[in-house]
Amino acid sequence: MLEVKNARMLYGDLVAVDHLSFTIKPGDIFGLLGTNGAGKTTTFRMIMGLLEPTEGEILYNGSKVGYHNVNEIGYMIEERSLLTKVTVKELMLYFGQLKDMEPKVILERLDYWLERFNIVEYKNKKIKELSKGNQQKIQFISAIINNPKLLVLDEPFSGLDPINTELFVEVIRDFQKQGSMVVFSSHQLDHVESFCEELIVLEKGKAIIEGRIEQVKKDFKKQNIKIIGDVDVKMLEQIPGVYKVVENSDQILVKIESEDVAKDVFDYVKTCKNIMKYDVEQASLSEIFIAKVGQAHEKV
Ligand code: ATP
Repeated sequence: MLEVKNARMLYGDLVAVDHLSFTIKPGDIFGLLGTNGAGKTTTFRMIMGLLEPTEGEILYNGSKVGYHNVNEIGYMIEERSLLTKVTVKELMLYFGQLKDMEPKVILERLDYWLERFNIVEYKNKKIKELSKGNQQKIQFISAIINNPKLLVLDEPFSGLDPINTELFVEVIRDFQKQGSMVVFSSHQLDHVESFCEELIVLEKGKAIIEGRIEQVKKDFKKQNIKIIGDVDVKMLEQIPGVYKVVENSDQILVKIESEDVAKDVFDYVKTCKNIMKYDVEQASLSEIFIAKVGQAHEKV
């Protein structure tokens, strides 16, 4: 279990992480989201024991991360700064041996992962000869080569195409199935929505959204009604509780303050002709994020 307990990190006067608490259990995939500078990387560095929190503590299976347990952890850093002049094989031997692994085991696992990531031909190529996406795969492999029980991934999906994103997701899910804990950061909220069950959204170091995604969505009362057909936007805008109407090329999106407003919108839609479809749906994580970040800024 990973326990982040009231962790606070100051860089001089700047509060990078402010009294942050969360727990990750075996088999959990946990998302740490937030805008640039929100405090994600700082949180990861504290988890890895690379930074000592100014206040609070972080425990991995009951103790701080240090020499005795760091071999159970895999960390993919945000900066894609691999040693570029060495080959993939040399790099992996270096990282694996840092984790006290036998060279034979490192090479066996490397072959497996190169195959799985469709990059077998790059084993003896220098890192600098690889494309950005393939370097990212190598960095990911270096984080998982030790079969970590805790996998810490800083922006693992940034810059990946959809096919490779799916490949990363499949591998992370396999670690989840084995009972590993996974914590990752991302800016890509819609992607996160389908990937992790629990999250924290940080803004200026503070958690502004936290919990299970379903619950976060339930707690956020605003919803959207999608309409395909001919409606009078002005009429919709006049319905109390409708706070925005967005006209897209193929549909109208009516944003409502709460569930109860839906009935009034439906009553109006039923009076219109040529309606092909109308439906209510919960707000997306992106919408919740934008609304909450806006509120957080208003409070400052
Ligand atoms: P990004 O998504 O842009 O990578 P992040 O959420 O990972 O951002 P951090 O890198 O943790 O954010 O930074 C949090 C805050 O702390 C920022 O305001 C940043 O400028 C500041 N910061 C980070 N590292 C240091 C440092 N070594 N010294 C001083 N300030 C720092």
